Amino acid sequence: MLAPGYAALPAAFYARVAPTPLTEPYLVATNAAAASDFDLGGLGDERQLLDAASGTVLPGGCTPIAAVYAGHQFGAWVQQLGDGRAIAIADVRDARGALWELQLKGAGETPFSRSGDGRAVLRSTIREFLCSEAMHALGIPTTRALCIVGSDTPVYRESVETAAVLARIAPSHVRFGTFEYFYYRGDREAVALLADYAIARHYPELAGRSDRYEALFRQIVLSTARLIAFWQAVGFEHGVMNTDNMSVAGITLDYGPFGFMEAYDPDWICNHSDHLGRYRFSAQPGVALWNLHCLAAAMGTLLSEEAALLALAEYEPALRTAYLERSLRKLGLHSWPGEAGTLLADLLAIMRRSGADYTIAFRALAKVGRVPSDADQAFLANFATADAGPWLLRYREALESQHISDAERSRAMRSVNPKYVLRNYLAHQAIERAARREFDEVARLLEILQRPYDAWPQYESYAAPPPPWANDLQLSCSS
Ligand code: AMP
Ligand code: MG
Repeated sequence: MLAPGYAALPAAFYARVAPTPLTEPYLVATNAAAASDFDLGGLGDERQLLDAASGTVLPGGCTPIAAVYAGHQFGAWVQQLGDGRAIAIADVRDARGALWELQLKGAGETPFSRSGDGRAVLRSTIREFLCSEAMHALGIPTTRALCIVGSDTPVYRESVETAAVLARIAPSHVRFGTFEYFYYRGDREAVALLADYAIARHYPELAGRSDRYEALFRQIVLSTARLIAFWQAVGFEHGVMNTDNMSVAGITLDYGPFGFMEAYDPDWICNHSDHLGRYRFSAQPGVALWNLHCLAAAMGTLLSEEAALLALAEYEPALRTAYLERSLRKLGLHSWPGEAGTLLADLLAIMRRSGADYTIAFRALAKVGRVPSDADQAFLANFATADAGPWLLRYREALESQHISDAERSRAMRSVNPKYVLRNYLAHQAIERAARREFDEVARLLEILQRPYDAWPQYESYAAPPPPWANDLQLSCSS
């Protein structure tokens, strides 16, 4: 294990602060798949993992730090944020030799805690743990999760909950808001150092180029566009797309009141604290572009306005291309019949009118063949209205020109349309059991979500639409 590379930056970038150990910690969940993807040194051993993640004993060579940043939160500028409860303890290498930063989220107060207690609740760590691994398995760039350590120490949110620490790993935790922090303090040198760090960590092929900062910004634009295309295609809503939650590596970062689309509704707002729907599902592409404009401003000392505008102009076409490409694969087609995207847009409009479950409907479509069969009924049963029937005829017509067998297409569709996503009610059930110190459901969900495209006969119920009681579940920013 190496000290975090971020600690080699000047002192203005972070505060050195040790984790505050959890009282009588216990392991809630571990993730063997993630552990095997990284060289964790001694942390492969359960005892050492518990000691390190709980902040009790850190491995040798660690230099724990909390990073400073700023951000636009719900559109409003906040000049001082930072890791108020997350502490980076080390860098680890993946199989390709790339460095990732290991962070303990919920590790206690730091100089950036403001009025917070520095803790995370068990509920939110379980949600982040499961969702980040679900996203990884879906092929969506994300932070990874190594383990959760819990404690019976009470933590006060809307109600009394208990504390937990999530050990998470990211290529870096540099945010758009990290650039904003230094730019708005007028620290040009720090902005350049940060850009060089981001290049070294995420885009090493740009190092040494005279136009490296323009190229860096462009790469962030393109990786963000690609990320948002993935989110939209799988029906993921982040919930709090503040600039301090946006990664310069183009990965999903900071899971809070996120959700996966169930009954299809582009106006869906998963975060009940988001009263105006700023971060509703259909707003995500536009919000990410707004955030990229904030980043362009914050990199203003490194970029000409012309270069920034040229890169920003690439965002929408890049997102559209990636989204349509992914959607084409979801539909099992090689090319669009007629105008690109129309067949999809029509299906989504029908889904919206009839409240079809986004994940289940696509999965059911994979079973439909060129010749009418029982699979048609199984697909059509997802729609409360009759207009899916004519759409299915158009789809079948489109299949005629595709030169792909039903079996092949079905296999291809099942490898891009998940059967399992982290439905809110599934996470809720796992959390309720974990609060009683029964962690089996967290482990089971992790196992299922790490293979989201497989059909597990014994876990059929995990692919079902949400039960009626799930309508009453509310998610807020509280975590
Ligand atoms: P988040 O909503 O988790 O993205 O956090 C937004 C900001 O609030 C970040 O700067 C966090 O470090 C900080 N924060 C959130 N919860 C806490 C807490 N319980 N204690 C201290 N800081 C917190
Ligand atoms: Mg955050």
